[in-house]
Amino acid sequence: MPGRLAGKTALVTAAGQGMGFACAMQMAAEGATVHATDVDPKLLAAFKGVANVTTRPLDVLDDEAVRRTIDELPPLDVLFNCAGYVHHGSILDCTPKDWDFSFTLNVRAMYVAIRAAVPRMLEKHAATGSWSSIINMASIAGSIKGLPNRFVYGASKAAVVGLTKAVAADFVQKGIRCNAIAPGTVDTPSLAERINAYPDPVEARRMFVARQPMGRLAKAEEIAPVVVFLASDESAFATGNVYSVDGGMTI
Ligand code: NAD
Repeated sequence: MPGRLAGKTALVTAAGQGMGFACAMQMAAEGATVHATDVDPKLLAAFKGVANVTTRPLDVLDDEAVRRTIDELPPLDVLFNCAGYVHHGSILDCTPKDWDFSFTLNVRAMYVAIRAAVPRMLEKHAATGSWSSIINMASIAGSIKGLPNRFVYGASKAAVVGLTKAVAADFVQKGIRCNAIAPGTVDTPSLAERINAYPDPVEARRMFVARQPMGRLAKAEEIAPVVVFLASDESAFATGNVYSVDGGMTI
């Protein structure tokens, strides 16, 4: 049986680990031709031998490389902007440099990638009638709920929601859908790093688990099906929406 993404070309940023990796794997399993990218080429080795996946190093902070990569690929049916960075602290801990870095990686990089991908998505829609799907990684933090010590992270992820809705509004009649996902706390390598940076990592993990009403963190594989849904034509009527997958964190 053909997969739900058969015939689609997808680009995933930050696919080397965590949710980007899980999403790239599930998209490939559903038949998409997946271009998995990450700033760290070593991580991309995890895709070795995986059907439907080709890899290439890509730093989303490098505008020219992002544009070149997108231009070299066939027109994208799916663009999953996953890359992001979590700055820890309140406004008092956030220097202008921290602010700029977070907004550059978490928001500006999406703007650059979307701007590069849209023209050929429009052309493809005009020529074939097919629709493309852009999926942006937001977060519960900031997008939906204020969380302590997530000042600039929350502000930048809220901006991702605004960017998503703005793109959705501009292309709603032109063949491009744009949605965001807002996960709760997901057990990924970077979360483990953040936990290990606390003076008492055991207590820190307990604290992260305690904010999840199910009493556990999400696995990256539990977020990926929502991204696959948004990538697929099953979500044809969804655009400008934010999909929370948060284990009840915002009940
Ligand atoms: P992760 O943070 O463990 O891995 C992130 C990946 O991004 C790494 O492979 C890293 O090499 C890559 N990366 C970093 N800088 C990059 C750059 N400049 N260009 C390209 N790739 C780069 O994975 P994760 O925790 O699944 O986070 C992925 C996204 O999900 C981020 O946007 C994050 O903010 C968001 N998010 C995470 C959680 C969570 O609890 N883990 C919750 C909500 C949202």
